[in-house]
Amino acid sequence: MNILSRVTHRLEPNADESAIGFMMRVAHKNRLKSAPELLKRVLGSESPVILHQRIPDLAFFCRNTIDEFQQLSGFEKWWDAEPHWVIQGEWLTKSVFIQNQLSRACPMCLDQSPYIRALWSLSFYKYCAWHECALIDRCPKCHRTLDWDRSRPEFCNCNQYLGEHSLELPQPESLLLSKVIAYRLTQDQSLIQTQSNQLVEQLAALSVDGLCKTIWFLGHCIPELGQYSTGHGRKRPNDQVFANMLQSAFALLRNWPESLGRILDKSIHQELHPQFSAVAFHYLLRPLDHYLKSSLDSPELAFIGHMYEQYLHQIWLKSGRRNSGSRYEKQLRLEF
Ligand SMILES: [Zn+2]
Ligand SMILES: [Zn+2]
Repeated sequence: MNILSRVTHRLEPNADESAIGFMMRVAHKNRLKSAPELLKRVLGSESPVILHQRIPDLAFFCRNTIDEFQQLSGFEKWWDAEPHWVIQGEWLTKSVFIQNQLSRACPMCLDQSPYIRALWSLSFYKYCAWHECALIDRCPKCHRTLDWDRSRPEFCNCNQYLGEHSLELPQPESLLLSKVIAYRLTQDQSLIQTQSNQLVEQLAALSVDGLCKTIWFLGHCIPELGQYSTGHGRKRPNDQVFANMLQSAFALLRNWPESLGRILDKSIHQELHPQFSAVAFHYLLRPLDHYLKSSLDSPELAFIGHMYEQYLHQIWLKSGRRNSGSRYEKQLRLEF
């Protein structure tokens, strides 16, 4: 696109700022209505999904360097025919892990410094790791969802100041997850020092994408074995579903790996006839196998696939049908 004009006032981005939040500030400073209006001028579209390859155009328009823009978060980039989103230098690979339609916020961070933090766009980041308060996604006055079309990070379009927070006790596991995510992206030791244990250390060593996939697989895919419906895996969980998911995942991780064996054994015997066939066994486990192979294939997540396969092998052997010689059994053996 031929960009004929540039903004007058240049702003400095923050290292932990979201790209669209930065553009909200640039738009306001330069008397444009909103970030979507700025995007429309430069890219021809108001969508909050901004492709990584458009950075040069945006940087030019905003009078920033390409380097300054590249440190911002939330850009979408495609490779291997899949979209990826960058958050503080790490790439996320599942759209359920990202909230880019909503503009959530920690009221206390906004009060300290009014800009949109990159972390707030992670779906599994529900509490501010530093202030331990819930992120808000609605205006406390007009109750509309916080949108990217507002003109300032710290004010709703109804003029309500967003930097005041209500006291809501955090859900401990959700707060812990938020702290681990924030630690991973900022290396702020103080976030996990007080609750350091083996589990926290293991989780903190995972990439954010790997951590989200672990929670998703253990808290969502495994407990719902045999109950998948169409669209499963694409829907972002609501607060209650998320809380349950986290509880299940942490329960598995706290008693790792024995509890994985127990839940697999229980679900398989619940879902299948006592004399289950290799076909039924394979069919039931197909969604889990698929998720493991397609999404948990990185070395950092090998600990999950390894234990999963070991337990399935044990369950299969215990079922006593190891000499049936069926082609499905051979297939299962090979896959284990
Ligand atoms: Zn905060
Ligand atoms: Zn409002």
